Amino acid sequence: MVPDTIPNLIDGQAVLSRAAQWLNKVRPRDGTLLCRLVRSNGEDVAAAVEAARRAQPAWAERTAVARGERVREIALALRERRQELSEAVVEETGKPLQLALGETDAAVEMGLFVAGEGRRYHGRTTTATMPHRTVMAVRQPVRVSGLIISFNPPLPNVAWKVFPAVFCGNAAVLKPSEETPVSAYLFAGLCTEAGLPPGVLNVVQGLGAEAGAALVEHPDVDLVSFTGSAASGRWISETAGRRLAKVCLELGGKNALVVCDDADLENSVRWAVASAFSNAGQRCASASRIVVFDAVYEEFRDRFVEASRSYEDAGPLISEGALERILGALDGAVVLCGGERLERPGWWLAPTVLESVDPETELSRTELFGPVTILFRARDFDHALSIVNDSPYGLTASVHTQSLHRAMRFAEKVQAGVVVVNGGTHGSEPHMGFGGVKQSGTGWREAGVEALDVYSDWKYVNLIADPSRV
Ligand code: NAD
Repeated sequence: MVPDTIPNLIDGQAVLSRAAQWLNKVRPRDGTLLCRLVRSNGEDVAAAVEAARRAQPAWAERTAVARGERVREIALALRERRQELSEAVVEETGKPLQLALGETDAAVEMGLFVAGEGRRYHGRTTTATMPHRTVMAVRQPVRVSGLIISFNPPLPNVAWKVFPAVFCGNAAVLKPSEETPVSAYLFAGLCTEAGLPPGVLNVVQGLGAEAGAALVEHPDVDLVSFTGSAASGRWISETAGRRLAKVCLELGGKNALVVCDDADLENSVRWAVASAFSNAGQRCASASRIVVFDAVYEEFRDRFVEASRSYEDAGPLISEGALERILGALDGAVVLCGGERLERPGWWLAPTVLESVDPETELSRTELFGPVTILFRARDFDHALSIVNDSPYGLTASVHTQSLHRAMRFAEKVQAGVVVVNGGTHGSEPHMGFGGVKQSGTGWREAGVEALDVYSDWKYVNLIADPSRV
């Protein structure tokens, strides 16, 4: 099912890197070799950008309805092959099959949602001072999009960018994570089978600092749409900004779940565990901070630690490097459970709960991107809110309370792009714009109709009629 070698896809052809260099991809579950992927360089990226530049005008000539139909065919092909692609995701990430299947379904739904936009690609009309002047705002493609994505839900990340990018009439060059080359390769194959013309989607595999950087720097890439860490995002923004390219950044989070003294503790524990540990905490929306009112702190902590110890659906970390980085960050912390590498092959860390961590420390402020969460004590609502907002990030947040007043106040004052009351720190769907504030992004929203703003630019068209010439 997983080929031994993963090539690039350029202009509809499977091609190897011109430099004939390779990277190894190992299985996170046991550390064994899964496959090799091409280690693309600047020349490979330039070939992909050139193919995209050539293919884009004819693709954009098709109507939005026709492009939507192609997107629908790809989504349906993905649904048809959901088991195969999900199993490939399990191989490359180690996550449980149920989770991978759910992610594949989410990618399909994103495709179907975007396809529907073909018959809903609305513009606007507006008034004008001059008589008989009609003004319309219409969308135009950005043209060539460079799409760079993280590994964590590989197929949804592909779907969130590729579907709206091509639907809006762009051609794209996708640089998947070096940790998840297989699903991107299989997805690109489905696009070809579903009739996406050659060159509309190109895939270059390889490292961020090589293939990714070359894409960001390429003068013919009009839009760089990036999902990944704030550190990479900062470099990308600076670099693409120097040549004034359009840049969309979806970055990390240090998301907080608040447990008030009137919360349903059973419900809070259930959501806190799922939010902190599903996908081994490798989710931009994971709850890596849990802020609990003093009055229920001990009771919540004991129940939460017990539930964390018995949580079995986490899966491994993506790489040995990630595991070592996280273990290093935990050095000296007060560990209530977990905190240790599991005694088995692969990159496993037990669900880890910390307490008594100073909110000002690095550990409280940086994203670890693993199954680690920190419990904080809060005196009251205002104190809890100030802890939540005292973060460089602002992606998602959740509050557990029976009080409408607290829920509404939290929703109003929390600095985040997504807020949930009495649930997890996640729950995005294809029709809901997703993104954050502060260092979680640069103001764009992905998914939802908001995604169309990333992949298209507005054009105002003025028509002046002369009634005397009727
Ligand atoms: P990462 O930043 O290390 O890598 C992301 C992608 O960027 C990879 O494809 C990588 O090869 C590439 N890359 C790295 N450096 C680059 C450079 N200098 N130039 C061009 N490309 C470069 O992130 P990761 O570890 O793969 O993913 C985890 C991060 O992604 C977390 O911070 C997580 O919160 C974030 N994330 C955010 C969202 C969101 O929607 N906000 C969704 C998923 C993940």
